[in-house]
Amino acid sequence: MDFKGSDILSVDQFQKEDLKLLFDTAAQMEIYATRQRVTRVLEGAVLANLFFEPSTRSRVSFGAAFNRLGGEVRDTTGFRFSSMAKGESVYDTSRVISGYSDVMVVRHPEEGAVKQFADATKIPVINGGDGPGEHPTQALLDLYTVMKEHGRSLDQIDGLSIAMIGDLKNGRTVHSLAKLLSLFEDLSFTLVSPKSLRMPDEVIERVRSRNHQVQETENLAEGVKNADIVYMTRIQEERFSSPEEFARHRGRYSIDRKFYADQCKEGAVLMHPLPIDGRPGAQEINDDLHGHPKLAVYRQTDNGIPVRMALFSLVLGVADKVHDVAKDALWYHPEQVDSE
Ligand code: ASP
Repeated sequence: MDFKGSDILSVDQFQKEDLKLLFDTAAQMEIYATRQRVTRVLEGAVLANLFFEPSTRSRVSFGAAFNRLGGEVRDTTGFRFSSMAKGESVYDTSRVISGYSDVMVVRHPEEGAVKQFADATKIPVINGGDGPGEHPTQALLDLYTVMKEHGRSLDQIDGLSIAMIGDLKNGRTVHSLAKLLSLFEDLSFTLVSPKSLRMPDEVIERVRSRNHQVQETENLAEGVKNADIVYMTRIQEERFSSPEEFARHRGRYSIDRKFYADQCKEGAVLMHPLPIDGRPGAQEINDDLHGHPKLAVYRQTDNGIPVRMALFSLVLGVADKVHDVAKDALWYHPEQVDSE
């Protein structure tokens, strides 16, 4: 694919060679993401970060990634504080914002809405999550994490076994990740969910059509026993029409240290797109796993920065110029807290 000027709406746009370019570029971004060097390659550029649904990680990490390339960020959050609350159309919002910015990231509660933003403008639009549809950049950073956690190159993803657990119906991150992983060979997927929250057939068919194995179960212990990657997800409260139905599923799947030690394959990597529902009775990943060497969730969120930097630099056509305008970072920067 030609990244320059492209909208990034779905993982379907990516082939293996695109992933290779993106991840090689992300690896080059790590010195900036980890604050060893500073680059100003996007000095003067503006990102419009339009989030019409709640977000912490995606919104801040898109913004921070753009800032770390030297660009400026303008945010709007929620409908309430945007003119959409006054009935403004997607076309008008998108056209107006494209007069103020060079690239747009949009999160929206309706599947397909981000594409409507993209259709109304020529500036690149990146899907930051469209309802239960897709979250392509989450899948890209998840795959980058899988690759790094297993100390593998992209060519060595083949043969892995992945358990996806939780609300597979409404969780857009697993839709995107399963589709992206299906580009590789010989994978084995175990999908763990209640029957009413199954992975959509369309996603399962895609994965099967590429000759991967897919098993479905409601049983967590059975689902994780052979998995190299254990990918937990949150029950997506905001997609349920009744609180009672949500309450029936909440807390259904939870992993703690004992469960991990007793049931998971040795060395299994624990991932989650976050947020974890940390309220009592839920906790898909229990707090007692904090600091566990195989808990990759914070390395996963950290990886969002180099991957999103790589995407911006490729989409805006500056990936080969990043190091030309770089210097050492001078400020104090401590280590992270989360390794044992
Ligand atoms: N942060 C992810 C998303 O926006 C996962 C979640 O919300 O559960 O889809």
